[in-house]
Amino acid sequence: MTSLPDLKAVNDRYRMFVSFTDAEECDGEFVFSAKDNLTTRDFPSTAGSRILEGYRPPFDATPVARMREAGGFLAGKTNMDEFGFGTFSANSAFGIPLNPYDRERSCGGSSGGAACAAAVLEDHVALGVSTGGSIVCPASFCGVYGIAPTYGRVSRYGLIDYANSLDKVGILSAKAGDLAKYLPAISGKDPKDPTSCAQPGEIGTPKKVGSVAVPSEAVQGLSKGVMESFERALESLRSMGIDVETVDMPVLRYAMPAYYVLATSEASTNLARFCGMRYGQQDGDLTLGFDDYFTSFRSKYFGDEAKRRILLGTFTRMVGYADRYYSKALRVRASVISEYKKVYSRFDAVATPTMPFVSPRFDEIAGMSALDVYKADFLTIPPNLTGMPHLSVPCGYSDGMPVGLMLTADHWREDLLLGTALEWEKGFDMRKPEVMA
Ligand code: GLN
Repeated sequence: MTSLPDLKAVNDRYRMFVSFTDAEECDGEFVFSAKDNLTTRDFPSTAGSRILEGYRPPFDATPVARMREAGGFLAGKTNMDEFGFGTFSANSAFGIPLNPYDRERSCGGSSGGAACAAAVLEDHVALGVSTGGSIVCPASFCGVYGIAPTYGRVSRYGLIDYANSLDKVGILSAKAGDLAKYLPAISGKDPKDPTSCAQPGEIGTPKKVGSVAVPSEAVQGLSKGVMESFERALESLRSMGIDVETVDMPVLRYAMPAYYVLATSEASTNLARFCGMRYGQQDGDLTLGFDDYFTSFRSKYFGDEAKRRILLGTFTRMVGYADRYYSKALRVRASVISEYKKVYSRFDAVATPTMPFVSPRFDEIAGMSALDVYKADFLTIPPNLTGMPHLSVPCGYSDGMPVGLMLTADHWREDLLLGTALEWEKGFDMRKPEVMA
């Protein structure tokens, strides 16, 4: 286990924490971290936003409380894109976490700090959150395992909302066994989040999938290195006795635009609560009228991506436009769900690469438009839009950077993903990063 006094040195090098413990010793059976959009009693909770700087919630989010009940010691809060808005963790107000395999590159996002912590700290379990891929993307860029469960499996109580109909709390770790051990620990009904109370029962005993479908749409637009690693990964699945077949899922191409309409519509209403009167920063000029106070405060403290999403999401749900955008996106979501369900009548899971390329360098990211960044999510968004559980396992390396394989299963079938990850781990030659080189 990385000793707690070493956290500072490791954090100076990789910047994965927004805040972390100054304790000398671990007061628990294992060490974990929480993404900074999960509320915690003993650390500030900023969700990567200056608007929440200094906010100290008086309560723990349910998944954090459950990790503590399982014997966990909370070592710190991990950095993230502001409110989860991003793919590279470059939209945080509190610095950017650096990739453990190459510090010139991104950790992925928005749970970039969580994936980085899982990769560079020994025996570390990280709580992450996904709305459109924010667990599996950074897991793949940092070469670790990450699972986003079925929507509703883990309580969202205490999660600072991005898009309520999409947000899911999950786990990242360098060991598949930690996913199998700690996902059940944070799962289960919680009266404080009614959407968690519809789950059918506990996650069953992990078992390996028998067959996977590879959508032809998912192997277009991949970098050469990702394509090669993915093909080798499919061979490994076959050698594990898993049947692999190609299928067509044409509706997948509409998932990305539908997601950005739905996610920003929900985000734009969620962010209305940050008006400088209840949480975090409250230093506005109180001689102003309400609208002026509200506007000046939000202009000052929200980052550019948050502002872009407030504008976009306000537009897509406006009277006169809601039918054209918001309602249509809901219909697309229903079609994407039925497309997956059709595939599950013949296969146990869907397999794709997690991201279309390995982690980009920061100078490459600086040259990307907002739309280029949104497009990078075309593989991770479909499963998130459906609320289905999905997992990324490290499956190879291209130019020294990790590549991820993503598996998606039907609602409530985390058992199939966990069982496959446990089997995969036995045969996969993981190359750990050289942390303090
Ligand atoms: N990159 C996607 C977005 O910006 C997903 C992020 C997430 O899952 N929080 O919305």
